[in-house]
Amino acid sequence: MKPALDTVDGRGARGRPASHHGRHDSAAVGIERTTTAVSSLAELTGPAEDYLKAIYHIAHDGEAAGTNDIARRVGVSPAAVSSMLRRLAEQGLVSHRRYHGVVLTQAGRRAALRTIRRHRVLEAYLAWALDYPVARVHDEAERLEHDASDQLIDRMAAALGDPAVDPHGAPIPTRGGIYGDGGSELIAGTIGNGVP
Ligand SMILES: [Zn+2]
Repeated sequence: MKPALDTVDGRGARGRPASHHGRHDSAAVGIERTTTAVSSLAELTGPAEDYLKAIYHIAHDGEAAGTNDIARRVGVSPAAVSSMLRRLAEQGLVSHRRYHGVVLTQAGRRAALRTIRRHRVLEAYLAWALDYPVARVHDEAERLEHDASDQLIDRMAAALGDPAVDPHGAPIPTRGGIYGDGGSELIAGTIGNGVP
């Protein structure tokens, strides 16, 4: 007997409570809780996404991201960083460099790029479709980036003609670059410009 499955469509896209992160969705669609890239991507919490994004911005050219840098960027204590890094490592999203901090695994990098895409598409949509002042789009995007579905983000991007950059001029990672295998370095050169 599978009571939950009859009330959602196959992908769990419809009838899915907006405020719930992956844990419940995964159960509903019968995905096993493994540490493969795909399920990890679906199950990330907002804070986990923030960490991965921070590590991506810090550790961009092969250098590891140190605990203190991550703490500063995320706005938490180094102790909090250590415990989150342990969890992210268990999920296969980061790997430790002894004495030097962490780097993103391929799955972690994909998750970070996904969040960055969401953030920048949201900023673009707020500014160009909704006439938000550019100075205000970042704070809105910081909140919305964790809850917007991929479908919503893709539609927002399409409505704008799939812009290549956000209102700050930072390149927007393409969907195909994140999920497909045409993975050229999507936003190389953008990181560290001070506009996350
Ligand atoms: Zn921003």
